[in-house]
Amino acid sequence: MLSFETCPVCGAELKNKEVEKILYGGNHTVVLQIQAEVSLRCGERLYAEETVRLFEKIRNKLKRQDLSGFDPLGKTFTVDKEWLNKYTIPLINVGSKTT
Ligand SMILES: [Zn+2]
Repeated sequence: MLSFETCPVCGAELKNKEVEKILYGGNHTVVLQIQAEVSLRCGERLYAEETVRLFEKIRNKLKRQDLSGFDPLGKTFTVDKEWLNKYTIPLINVGSKTT
């Protein structure tokens, strides 16, 4: 159970809500819909102890490449440097060059 009745950051009321939590482990990412207590003012999320343990369990599973119980949800990419260079404007060197 949660030990907070009000937000420890701003003191506002907490509301039980389903939130989207993103967890990382190794190269993998898991997106999870989970219940949390959310501060009505600052948006701080508080998770139950069991939930925090669950997050840890998921991170460890990801690190071990154990993907059982997880369903694929699209893919995660990084942008190829060559591709990126085609679309980024080269920085103009405004500083004086030291030779
Ligand atoms: Zn708050």
